[in-house]
Amino acid sequence: MIVQSLIKKRIEKLQSRLFQYFISESPFTYEQFVVNLTDEIKKFSEASFCAIYLLDVWKGRFQIHSKDGVVKESLRSHFSLDDLYTQTKSQSDVQHIIDAKAVGSSLRVTSLHSGQTIFGYLVLKGTSAVQMEEELLRAVSSEVTKCIKKVEGFYTSMEEEKKYELLYKVTSHFHSSIDTDGVLKEIIDTLRKTYPDFQYFLLLSNDYTKDNDLPVRELTYDMDLESSASTQAYITGEVQIEDHLVEKCSILYAPLKGKQGIYGVLKVVTPGYLYFPKKDVEFFIFIANTAGKALENAQLYQQSRKLNSDLQLINSTSQKLNSNMRLTEKISYMAYKIQQSFHADEVGFVTYEELSSHHVLEGSTEYFASSESSTLVHYVKESVCHQDAPLFISDLETKPIEHVPQYRSLMAVPMKDHEHISGLAIVLHKEPYYFTFESFKLLQSLVAHSTLAFANSILREELEKAVITDYLTKLHSRVHLDHCVEQHVKDDEKGCLILFDIDNFKNINDTYGHQVGDEVICQVADIIKSVIGGQGLSARWGGEELAVYLPMLPSEKAHDLTEMIREKIAISTSPGVTVSCGIAPWKAEWLRPNRKQIVQQADQALYKAKSSGRNRIVTAHPIKERS
Ligand code: GH3
Ligand code: MG
Ligand code: MG
Repeated sequence: MIVQSLIKKRIEKLQSRLFQYFISESPFTYEQFVVNLTDEIKKFSEASFCAIYLLDVWKGRFQIHSKDGVVKESLRSHFSLDDLYTQTKSQSDVQHIIDAKAVGSSLRVTSLHSGQTIFGYLVLKGTSAVQMEEELLRAVSSEVTKCIKKVEGFYTSMEEEKKYELLYKVTSHFHSSIDTDGVLKEIIDTLRKTYPDFQYFLLLSNDYTKDNDLPVRELTYDMDLESSASTQAYITGEVQIEDHLVEKCSILYAPLKGKQGIYGVLKVVTPGYLYFPKKDVEFFIFIANTAGKALENAQLYQQSRKLNSDLQLINSTSQKLNSNMRLTEKISYMAYKIQQSFHADEVGFVTYEELSSHHVLEGSTEYFASSESSTLVHYVKESVCHQDAPLFISDLETKPIEHVPQYRSLMAVPMKDHEHISGLAIVLHKEPYYFTFESFKLLQSLVAHSTLAFANSILREELEKAVITDYLTKLHSRVHLDHCVEQHVKDDEKGCLILFDIDNFKNINDTYGHQVGDEVICQVADIIKSVIGGQGLSARWGGEELAVYLPMLPSEKAHDLTEMIREKIAISTSPGVTVSCGIAPWKAEWLRPNRKQIVQQADQALYKAKSSGRNRIVTAHPIKERS
């Protein structure tokens, strides 16, 4: 009883000393506090030395704290921390006093525990310490525990407050940020401020293009040993911790999780540590989730901006293409737009009716005009037709092409519009892996939206050609010749119109039939075309009548050419035919006639040729007065 009240008194004294120490105004760090506490206990217990061992949860071992540096060192060698840790783990009684004999005769060691967990040891040295009553020792250790826990709580909440204040600042910034790089930089900066000893990496998928000094690494999906934990974190969305015993480090992988998906993995490497305390893991998860959401926001914003600009591109291009442009102009415009938007080196548009041949549309870039492009175009055309799908090649060098082109990246999109057009848009770049899948999708939309405009131009130009071309002889049509003559008599100084009529053509039809008759008309047309060449314009006037207009030629020269034609027809047609020809020359110095007058003159001359025996040429008198 007496002993107990004595102990109580002594403890009350200790409490009051510790209280005084607590309320002393000089600020101290946690470390300083523990060291000073050992000093207080040393004085109180009249020990020659006092130390407190505290468990460092990060290091998984005890740290020694004491005011007496020399004894601290001797104790460190004398008293193995690892042994102590092993002992602690095997102890079933958390409130234990280690047998003095076990640790050296002059030492008293007692555990400091909070609930069922030992977090430290109080070590006292010296005779009075060794002789101290067990009850007193336990009471002292309980006071020490209370003090340490109080101060630890105070420091932890201060630290937490600082950490979360930092986090709050970052988070509020994240939500207003639309810049992915900015978000990632904030994450790394915050982590480096909070845990400066650790190494951080951001594992992101390969479509993140790195142009800064952020510790970004490519996220690999291989299930090998190296990357399996990161892959797991990415796939499962759960935090993964890997201990590397050889390198003596622990690695934590926290997924950057947003609401709609996982955007990467945060990798935290601890140097030499082998244990991640739960509350720190939670902090990493929290920051990774915040970052995931911020990245998601930034990506969604960037995507919507991209989508908007893509739509604008499609819209402005379609508008332009639907205006009244020639096909060549449209192709040039598209090629330019694609080069500009996709940073492509070459853009080509080809059409084809059958697999073996193709036609490069004018307006495509230079490479497609060269003959070396044809092997590539052929390969692409075959692949697209075979798979009936657009083609995306990251590296052409890996493909079995006969002549490997200087280009490595390729995108090809078919242009299809019902019956009118079968073709391809081909986009090339010299670097491999140059185009993204996004640009491939955009190209498909762009081509789909412009194909109709191309088809319209092709159709219109075909129609125009059909109007000015005679379907049987492929000479120009009479409408076209009329139009040209009209223009020439207005602008030129002279010219000649020649009309040809096949003699007794009815007989050919009657004897050989209409089909042979048609062939004969074609033979005559070919002869006329070959003699005239580029000197004039040949046309089918109607039925078995043909015509030639020779601009800027005098009538003598026109006569010579007509004579050549007449002769050639007479000797080389089969079945043989002859032609009668009427020439109508005009000269502005005589009189500038109108088209009708010239036609009339030529017609009259032809009539004369017929009536004077056929297979001959008659040149009309110069037109000197208006009819
Ligand atoms: P000529 O001109 O010497 O007076 O005698 P012709 O027998 O040629 O008489 P005409 O010029 O009056 O008749 C032309 C004939 O040519 C009438 C028509 O049956 C035939 N013909 C007109 N167009 C075609 C055609 O496109 N194909 C064929 N096979 N025959 C045609
Ligand atoms: Mg006739
Ligand atoms: Mg005739």
